[in-house]
Amino acid sequence: MAWFVSARTCPIQSMFNPQASFIRSPPNWHLARVFGNPLFCNAIPSNPPISREVSQEVFKNIPWSLNSENYWPSKEAIATWRDADAVCFDFDSTVCLDEGIDELAVFCGAGAEVAEWTAKAMTGLVEFEEALAARLSLFKPSLDQVENCLEQRPPRISPGISELIGKLKAKNVDVYLISGGFRQMIKPVALELGIPPDNIFANQLLFGTSGGYVGFDPKEPTSRSGGKAVAVQHIRQKRGYKTLVMIGDGATDLEARQPGGADMFICYGGVQMRESVARKADWVVSDFHELMIQLS
Ligand SMILES: [Mg+2]
Repeated sequence: MAWFVSARTCPIQSMFNPQASFIRSPPNWHLARVFGNPLFCNAIPSNPPISREVSQEVFKNIPWSLNSENYWPSKEAIATWRDADAVCFDFDSTVCLDEGIDELAVFCGAGAEVAEWTAKAMTGLVEFEEALAARLSLFKPSLDQVENCLEQRPPRISPGISELIGKLKAKNVDVYLISGGFRQMIKPVALELGIPPDNIFANQLLFGTSGGYVGFDPKEPTSRSGGKAVAVQHIRQKRGYKTLVMIGDGATDLEARQPGGADMFICYGGVQMRESVARKADWVVSDFHELMIQLS
């Protein structure tokens, strides 16, 4: 009989939190990708947002960003942000710096094979559920491996996210996590950020009685293509929110902005900046402090 692994507390890393006792330095590729790219010049949390003039200078060599006015929020976008009574965050490469399934695959020794499938899935030519099943079948993570991965490679929280969520909660804004990743890997971070388990919409890994991998729960909407949009619509319908905002880095996050779903989509490019997503966003940020400032 399949059973669900219960979440347990594990060390959570905050790259810029001096109080954190477990700090895993970002690998070199991440430093190169984030800090070597002018798009991420604003990614260090202690820096104030750059001015429009500086930004135009920085962005001038990046053709697609030349006319990207959505780097500068419209009055309507700011008003929607301030009026929001619910904010839904994507998890991988948004709340956290890593992609959970990739981290788990690397830990289980199948990083390269899974990365190949991830690249295939990103083309949009493969249904999400097919890509998820294919990737998991490559390494079939056991309960022990998931728990050991969480212990030895704890998720790294994005700079500024803890403060932003704290500020939203102080304003009585409800915060949700919507992810194609796994509840087992998200719950410890949610606990750290003060987000209730009921506010997590994600996939559930299933294990047999001896802890072996048996699959994932296909009833979770996030296990299917378009699932994040369905989850956001469900939240809105159930809780009757007046204004709901979705924040993320991927095309599936952008999909959540539709009638009955999110009123606004904010593209967070602090980890991964995807041109196709950023172009269609209502607002593009590379630092959560930009959002915090506009809440005041
Ligand atoms: Mg993401």
